[in-house]
Amino acid sequence: MTDINAVASEVSKLKQRLDQAQLSYRDASLKSRREIVILKRLITRLSVAYRGLDSELDTKLTELRTELDQPKDISKLIPRLAVIERLVTRQAGFTEKENQRLEQQIHQSGETLKRVHGLPAQLKRELRNILSATSDSLAHNHQRILRLLELYERSLKLISTSNDNLVLKDTLDHDLQLQLTNELQHLITELDFDGESGDKLLTIRNRLLIGVPPQTLIELSLEVLRLVLNGTHQERRSSQKFLDSVNSDLATLQKTTNQNVGQTSALYAHHGELTTELATVVNTVKQGLQDQKNLENWRPTLTELTKELQVLVDRNRALEKREKMLIEQLSYNENKVTTLFEQTQDYRQRLNDQERKMFLDHLTKVYNRAALNDRLEHEYRRWLRYQHPLCVSLIDIDDFKDINDSYGHIAGDKALKIIARTIHQCLEETDFIARFDGDEFVVIMPDVSEEERNKRLNKVRESISQLPFRFRDQNVTISISIGATLFEGNDTPTDIIERTEKALYSAKSAGRNRMFWIL
Ligand code: GH3
Ligand code: MG
Repeated sequence: MTDINAVASEVSKLKQRLDQAQLSYRDASLKSRREIVILKRLITRLSVAYRGLDSELDTKLTELRTELDQPKDISKLIPRLAVIERLVTRQAGFTEKENQRLEQQIHQSGETLKRVHGLPAQLKRELRNILSATSDSLAHNHQRILRLLELYERSLKLISTSNDNLVLKDTLDHDLQLQLTNELQHLITELDFDGESGDKLLTIRNRLLIGVPPQTLIELSLEVLRLVLNGTHQERRSSQKFLDSVNSDLATLQKTTNQNVGQTSALYAHHGELTTELATVVNTVKQGLQDQKNLENWRPTLTELTKELQVLVDRNRALEKREKMLIEQLSYNENKVTTLFEQTQDYRQRLNDQERKMFLDHLTKVYNRAALNDRLEHEYRRWLRYQHPLCVSLIDIDDFKDINDSYGHIAGDKALKIIARTIHQCLEETDFIARFDGDEFVVIMPDVSEEERNKRLNKVRESISQLPFRFRDQNVTISISIGATLFEGNDTPTDIIERTEKALYSAKSAGRNRMFWIL
């Protein structure tokens, strides 16, 4: 019995263990099914997240999803999961790089937009926000790109709908634009191009004188640059052509001169031979005349000698012919050298003219600003040394703009020329006049007494106010204002020009057509 009880107890224990085992098996199986569901969900999410990024990953994820739908031992899917893990890691690397690229692009495009002047403050603020909100999330950076694109679109609309080009209008203030227009216009007057380029430059200059909007000013500046470049190329090409032709003429001359030298030596040697042979014949005749008793017997020999002489005469004639040709060639060469010399002289003259023109104002033919700077520096150094009175004055035409506006800039140009000539005529040889800018001239008078400098400058002012200008059938008078000063103490040329400007300003403020000194 005891045995049976023991067995029964054993069986009961076994049953309990069996129940336990069954329970834990059901648990495990439930757990495994739950894990499969989670895995499937994860795989579905992965498929959605990575769809279209990597076709290999797409395929692998689809395959895995299909496998998970079939009842299978999950451990068999482990190799597939390993492949997917590798692909996902690779994709993560790509994404990171892509994100960095986006970040860089946002920064670069944002900075470019930031540099555009004249954008509204609000837009700039938004731009700053986008740029400061760096992120390592691809989605966030996509958002930033979209916002940046919106800002670009808005900026473009603002620029294109603004009447006078908002960007330029805001950046180029009125005074600066006027100054640039004047400088460009002035520069053009210093250019000296012929033909089509010259005509184009003149047209541009006329447009500048009337006044142009900023956009046109930039376009015209570019056009001037293009014309200058073309002109320079043309000048270079024509210089090159000239040098090439001089070179080829010189080469031909050198060749023919060498040939001439060779021919002259050959002719000289032939002459030598001829003379020796002639001397031999003469000696034979002399000797014969002495030795022969009966000249009649000697006749045959004499006849032979005469033939020899005839040959020598013929050879001499041939030599003379060659000499004549040589002389002709030499004279041709001489002419060629003379022509070449004249051509190079011409060229040198042109270069000298150009150099001179570099210091002359093209329109008024008085010295230009570059020459003024040179001269002022020179006179300043002389003043430092000798301390003689050195007077500098700035002359500005009164209301000159009105002349241009009322009678056109061609009339204005004519007036400028006449005024420059008149100032020049009122001055002495030792004085210096240059066109300083637009309608301004600078006069330097070294070593002139107070009385004399006042006399000369007043004469300039009065002479101009008495000029009988006539534009469009109207009598017009033009006056000038003068600001004058003297070098003193530690003055430099820059101080002096500034002082004449101040003096001129006072003369203008005091009512124009007058002279004002600052001493
Ligand atoms: P102000 O009495 O204050 O000097 O008045 P303004 O009208 O003369 O004024 P300002 O001197 O400032 O203007 C000079 C004008 O001269 C402006 C420009 O149009 C004109 N100008 C400058 N260069 C030339 C040129 O080469 N030819 C012509 N025709 N006009 C020029
Ligand atoms: Mg003026």
